[in-house]
Amino acid sequence: MADFKNYIDGKWVEAKSGATYERRNPATGELIGTYARSGPEDVAAAVEAAKAAFDRWRKLPAPKRGEILFRVGQLLIERKEQLAREMTEEMGKVLTEARGDVQEAIDMTFYMAGEGRRLWGQTTPSELPHKWNMTQRRPIGVVGLITPWNFPIAIPAWKIMPALICGNTVVFKPASYTARSAVRLVQIFEEAGLPPGVLNLVLGTGETVGTALVQHPDVALISFTGSNEVGQQVAVECARLGKRVSLEMGGKNAIIVMDDANLRLALDGIVWSAFGTSGQRCTAASRVIVHEAVFRELADQLDARVSRLKLGNGLDPTTDVGPVVSESQLERVHRYVQIGVEEGAQILTGGQIARDGDLARGHFHQPTIFVDVRPEMRIAQEEIFGPVTALIRVRSLEEAIAVCNGVRYGLSASIFTRDIDKAFRAIEDVHTGIFYVNAGTIGAEIHLPFGGTKATGNGHREAGQAALDVFSEWQSIFIDY
Ligand code: NAP
Repeated sequence: MADFKNYIDGKWVEAKSGATYERRNPATGELIGTYARSGPEDVAAAVEAAKAAFDRWRKLPAPKRGEILFRVGQLLIERKEQLAREMTEEMGKVLTEARGDVQEAIDMTFYMAGEGRRLWGQTTPSELPHKWNMTQRRPIGVVGLITPWNFPIAIPAWKIMPALICGNTVVFKPASYTARSAVRLVQIFEEAGLPPGVLNLVLGTGETVGTALVQHPDVALISFTGSNEVGQQVAVECARLGKRVSLEMGGKNAIIVMDDANLRLALDGIVWSAFGTSGQRCTAASRVIVHEAVFRELADQLDARVSRLKLGNGLDPTTDVGPVVSESQLERVHRYVQIGVEEGAQILTGGQIARDGDLARGHFHQPTIFVDVRPEMRIAQEEIFGPVTALIRVRSLEEAIAVCNGVRYGLSASIFTRDIDKAFRAIEDVHTGIFYVNAGTIGAEIHLPFGGTKATGNGHREAGQAALDVFSEWQSIFIDY
């Protein structure tokens, strides 16, 4: 019997095969519970339920759909602390960040609930007399949502809320590591009175459940957030099947620090962006591109700050940096540290798997800073997704921008400078979907488009009005009178 089950057609059910898997707390190794390990037959049942519910849901007036989301938002507020604590146990981020994760979901829920009273179309003048033209947004149908583990409540909410408000029905496949958080989120929809079949949850591996969802002929759209490796497979499969796909994938984000920067501010931005969520953010700053005039001073101060960061269980209020999500992620992160050393970079801070005392029970890696990094090194090109950052020395703004752009990704970047001209030149020339001035590379606001250029995505955006473009399509209407 699974502790955490699928939710299909308004009922909590085991995987049809009865199979389960376990998840342990990445900080302590304690068992969290057993989860349904579903197969294609469970995906088929969920899609069937979503298909059957679609017509009634899309015809429910959008303000009424919004009312249900308002109730969901209210319940999220009431459960915020419990959701955050369980998230910390399940994937390791420190409690204050877990609260922030839930808060992003709350903000998105109220934003999209409000959309129920807008969902604006347009009226346009006609070329002809006695003719009235207008447009309206229409839902797409049954949509499949596939999400990663690093924002277990926020990222699902960023997809579910716009999908539902636009009138789609949903089959949601969360990351296997964070399926309990997904169950908690879906329980809230159930309590808020969402009709059966409108939101279905299928737990299990990406290989089985994700693939079956992508390949199901009745799923009209896949919205995927995760790695490039998987996202590209999903894209190829969707192209083969002629299906819509929205992709949000990896990053290799950079902070530029100019010679005229406020270094105290820059240090705050770097520490938060590189080591928040143990570096496991798509927008994490894994490169810091520093003007040579301030390089030494910044490196010394950063080393002093980062050496003092306390590793530990995210539920302990004195912890600065939690574990990484799993043993395999820990090995991957440490392998990159070894690659950096083999490539000739020098470790300024950290560099080791942390095994002192209680840390040995979990998956902890010391926050790590490299210096003597050349832009073409693998540690400066590939997404590490852990508490590791590389300091790169440059001589000018032009060189900084060239280094910043010299990666395949284009998610987030930032510049620290007191010179408004330099800030604007960077805004103009840096090729990322998100750009910050005098702040780190992380910290989204839910009413602005979120997403990346180049290999980070396929041009879609999440959050704000831009999310509605993913989950709806335009109908043009011509009326002669
Ligand atoms: P991942 O391994 O690509 O997994 C993402 C999701 O895809 C999970 O639900 C996974 O299921 C599923 N999946 C795995 N194989 C699949 C397949 N063959 N077909 C369909 N689905 C499949 O990524 P992750 O490790 O969870 O997350 C880290 C990555 O996400 C990083 O690259 C990060 O940059 C990216 N990310 C991007 C953004 C953004 O907005 N750009 C935001 C957050 C994270 P399982 O969990 O069962 O494997």
